Amino acid sequence: MSDTHIAAPHKGELYELGCLLGIACCCWLIGDTLGLFLRMEAAVTAGGVSSVVFLGFLMSFAFAAASALKSVRLRHEMRRRTRAEMNAQSIARRDVLTGLPNRRMLIEAIGTATGNALPGTQHAIFLIDLDRFKPVNDVYGHAAGDAVLCTVAERLNGLLPKDGIAARLGGDEFSVLLPTHGQSTELIRLAQQIIACLSEPIVWEHAKLEVGATIGIALYPPDGSDAEALLRSADIAMYRGKREGRSTFRFFEARMDDELKARVSLEIALRSAIQSNQIRPHYQPLVSLPEHKLLGFEVLARWYHPERGVIPPDVFIPIAEDIGVITELCYSLLRQACRDAAGWPSDLGLAINISPCQFKDRLLAPRLLNILRETGFNPRHLEVEITESALTNDLDVARATLSVLQTAGVSIALDDFGTGYSSLYHLRELKFDKLKIDRSFVQSLEDNDESAKIVSAIIGLGQSLGILTTAEGIENTTNSAWLAERGCTFGQGYLFGAPVPAQAAQLLAEEAGLHPARPDTSVAA
Ligand code: C2E
Ligand code: CA
Ligand code: CA
Repeated sequence: MSDTHIAAPHKGELYELGCLLGIACCCWLIGDTLGLFLRMEAAVTAGGVSSVVFLGFLMSFAFAAASALKSVRLRHEMRRRTRAEMNAQSIARRDVLTGLPNRRMLIEAIGTATGNALPGTQHAIFLIDLDRFKPVNDVYGHAAGDAVLCTVAERLNGLLPKDGIAARLGGDEFSVLLPTHGQSTELIRLAQQIIACLSEPIVWEHAKLEVGATIGIALYPPDGSDAEALLRSADIAMYRGKREGRSTFRFFEARMDDELKARVSLEIALRSAIQSNQIRPHYQPLVSLPEHKLLGFEVLARWYHPERGVIPPDVFIPIAEDIGVITELCYSLLRQACRDAAGWPSDLGLAINISPCQFKDRLLAPRLLNILRETGFNPRHLEVEITESALTNDLDVARATLSVLQTAGVSIALDDFGTGYSSLYHLRELKFDKLKIDRSFVQSLEDNDESAKIVSAIIGLGQSLGILTTAEGIENTTNSAWLAERGCTFGQGYLFGAPVPAQAAQLLAEEAGLHPARPDTSVAA
């Protein structure tokens, strides 16, 4: 279509031609009036040429000039178009920000490398995903993010052998293609160098930006016959590296593919399980020490999978967090638990677990309070259990959320205390109502002196700060008595009851209402 556009006589061009012919006529008129042709006649020919011949000559000259002009313009236009096309092609094959080849060009390069590969030659495809890039973008802005991407591109180019190609696939994903001899030591060394080099801080304005890199490596021919298959294998290996601790590299293995498929199908099943209330609350008794009086229950999620039976939360909570459905799950569990608790003695409390990532939602507190209002559950009987990792992202947001909840009467417990940062700073900054001593300490009380000292210290810390303490994972009376003696206020563990479904919890609740517990003198002795 564009060629027709160049060749077709344009209105403007006809106009130009008309002008040139007009000029030629004027020249002829002037020449004729001034008798110039007669003089030229004398000078050029003895026999004489009529002025009409001169008109013809000038018109031919005008035609020739018009065609020459048009041809010059045409050539100029064609050159401009070729340049624009080359430019467009280069833009389409290069990443605009870093100047590295983009996914399209990499795919072509992989196609060429694998297509021309001599028997016995191998190629490696690295898929490099930056770690902690999102926080850099979020905290310092996109200009900082761009600076990181450009530095990564430079560093990659600096590390590659002559026959290697580095490309940016998009976002914070890069790739490298190079010839290799299987999982050679050079390949492993290059992966380690890339990880080390990309982890070096990047100075931007006055800040030091720190990212890392996780690499998945696929080899041609064993891990894929074309570019798409190879990149997918490298991606699967990279994903495995991410899950196994980041800032590391993994070679693709066929079983990873099966595991990924299983994980994807679990994700799909999890989404629909939340919708259809297949995930239900179980209730584990929380008791007072030393009386062992039932005070309430911790709500613990269980997935009733139609084929796989009951799936424990350790399996699906991390997935729910990863795929962003934990908030929905938490609200569904709280709603179910408040409805279950409506039939129990009204002084029994409920404790729910809130994942760290839920604190990103500034509406977390009002949404939880809404559910309490909707189900008629008294906020004074709700406890929210959080772990310290909830406080490391944005302490101010966490503080605001917790203070809205506490103002409404909800109490806040710091869960798994002793396993995380156990930072006194957090204890000072946020007014917790309770510390839950992690079960790993409680369960090693008898055979580990250090655990006993740590548990005593946590109970003492709680007492001096006016914070109550719950010991988790109490399985025998010796531990329960030991904890009670040291002033631990509450207990939880198989000694008092494992997590049970709603009906069983109802029986426990009713029984406790009928027979309030008495101090257990036999264990205290
Ligand atoms: P957690 O909050 O520390 O919950 C206590 C875990 O210890 C529960 O495991 C409970 O069954 C187990 N446990 C209680 N007493 C004993 C005992 O005497 N001995 C032993 N060996 N274990 C005991 P569970 O139910 O498998 O939950 C595991 C973790 O999953 C929970 O740890 C919590 O972090 C998470 N989780 C469970 N439900 C939810 C939920 O609804 N939301 C969120 N965000 N996390 C949840
Ligand atoms: Ca908990
Ligand atoms: Ca815990």
